[in-house]
Amino acid sequence: MSDCIFCLIANGTIPAGIVWQDERVVAFRDLHPQAPVHVLIIPRAHYSGLDDDVPAEVYAALCAAAPLVARATGVADSGYRLIVNTGPDAGQTVMHLHVHLLGGAAMSEGMVRLA
Ligand code: AMP
Ligand code: ZN
Repeated sequence: MSDCIFCLIANGTIPAGIVWQDERVVAFRDLHPQAPVHVLIIPRAHYSGLDDDVPAEVYAALCAAAPLVARATGVADSGYRLIVNTGPDAGQTVMHLHVHLLGGAAMSEGMVRLA
């Protein structure tokens, strides 16, 4: 989608702090990090979110990327958390499916505001 910021990052039109990528997935640093390591893992193909008939192989590619992104950003051994915000109550602001990978510090539940 030409007006989707994450599509523009995936196709290289907009610069981002890319930390890992392959033919299906791009991972880049969040502009407003909520943890010492905060990376967004996205499919190159546009899906608005979990409710957008996402093929199983896209989920597989995202999940398979996560430990590789963790390794690339130095948090594989210390641990990390994956989050997918879906819809308004979850605070989804970018309508291109993305997985937040958060790590680099011990997390309490407070790092993810529930209400
Ligand atoms: P969500 O609230 O789950 O939709 O998360 C969207 C995330 O995208 C937020 O954490 C933003 O900080 C991040 N974000 C928005 N624009 C950019 C950008 N151009 N580069 C990196 N991260 C971005
Ligand atoms: Zn998109």
